[in-house]
Amino acid sequence: MVSGDNRTNLARFSDDLASICQQQKAVFGALPDDLKQYWFLLWVTEDGYGGLEHKDSTLLLCSRFDLPAPGATEIDDNYQNLLALCSHEYFHTWWVKRLKPACFHPYQLSAEQYTSQLWLYEGFTSYFDDLALVKAGLIPAERYINSLEKTISRVSRNPSDSAQSLLDSSFTAWTKFYKQDENAPNAVVSYYVKGALLALCLEAQLRANGSSLQQLVRQLWQHYLSSGTADNAVALSLTQLGFTELAAVLTQWLAQAAPLPLQQTLPALGLELVYRPMQHMDDNGGNSHNDSIFIGAQTKVVNGLLQLSQVYQGGNAHNAGLMAGDQLLAIDGIKVSADNLSKLLSRYSLGSQLQVHFYRKDRLLMASLPLNTATQQVAVLTVKDERLCKAWLDESA
Ligand SMILES: [Zn+2]
Repeated sequence: MVSGDNRTNLARFSDDLASICQQQKAVFGALPDDLKQYWFLLWVTEDGYGGLEHKDSTLLLCSRFDLPAPGATEIDDNYQNLLALCSHEYFHTWWVKRLKPACFHPYQLSAEQYTSQLWLYEGFTSYFDDLALVKAGLIPAERYINSLEKTISRVSRNPSDSAQSLLDSSFTAWTKFYKQDENAPNAVVSYYVKGALLALCLEAQLRANGSSLQQLVRQLWQHYLSSGTADNAVALSLTQLGFTELAAVLTQWLAQAAPLPLQQTLPALGLELVYRPMQHMDDNGGNSHNDSIFIGAQTKVVNGLLQLSQVYQGGNAHNAGLMAGDQLLAIDGIKVSADNLSKLLSRYSLGSQLQVHFYRKDRLLMASLPLNTATQQVAVLTVKDERLCKAWLDESA
């Protein structure tokens, strides 16, 4: 059901949703026994985005430009994101609305519920949401791989990848993930995004050994639907499927505050992963044809001044002693704005020392900013083995 004014092709949207539902049902082999009907309740507004899963429905919010234009047949990023959101919430019908952590039995709505398993319920869901789009043929493999570059980069470019474990990120969701401040890229890892990467690593390892993540998901669904999953349920299921070593590796991946071994595991899916330095604020990986140098901070315009909103630990701005909240005024005597920052930086070569004037609260300060290779790394993926890649992304697999 779609409400809100919109000019779109609802027949196309409805067909695409049907293909996604088929795909997610195929992961589990069947619909949940007690599911008699399912409603996508979509509210179209000027600039909304979000979704909430329920047992027999999902309540979604999108911008009217996320829906496809009436005559359009191609898929753009906005529509892809909307379909991925629908796919995500529908996957939750099995994965968290029915199968859920044992400590959610019964769920206490009157108080915060703590669990270390959000990487499993939100991370796996985030992995399967995009995957359904490519398996259903709604996006080509190249588009999917491009999305994967973004997913990897969103984790790899943040120092938090080496600062917080997935177990910790899950357990502190109420106090940290949902209360993020300007230091979040350095301290808080997303159990959604890194959880999806963990699912990807498991998929690669399982496929390398003749199984798949789908098999693991079904094993969990069949064994823990009534009791709920204890914290060791995934490791236990891996052991039951004969992957004792992988169970131990998983336990380590979850507990350590360290990057996942994507470069080592992805060849099993036919992919080669290399990292390159982040080049600008919105750099999410993929091939790049310029080589500008990243300042090591996110910026936003506040009262007409360019303010550092987040400073990456170990990055150029951080090494210069700059802090979140500082307002940049000039680089080597030239006024800085949101429009000219990257143009100004592109005139310098690696190793340059820039003189930066900035306000810290009401004080005018000056610092020397070294322009070194960005320590923030983003992902570039290349298909190296078409056969393996196709077997993974093929509808029937
Ligand atoms: Zn979710």
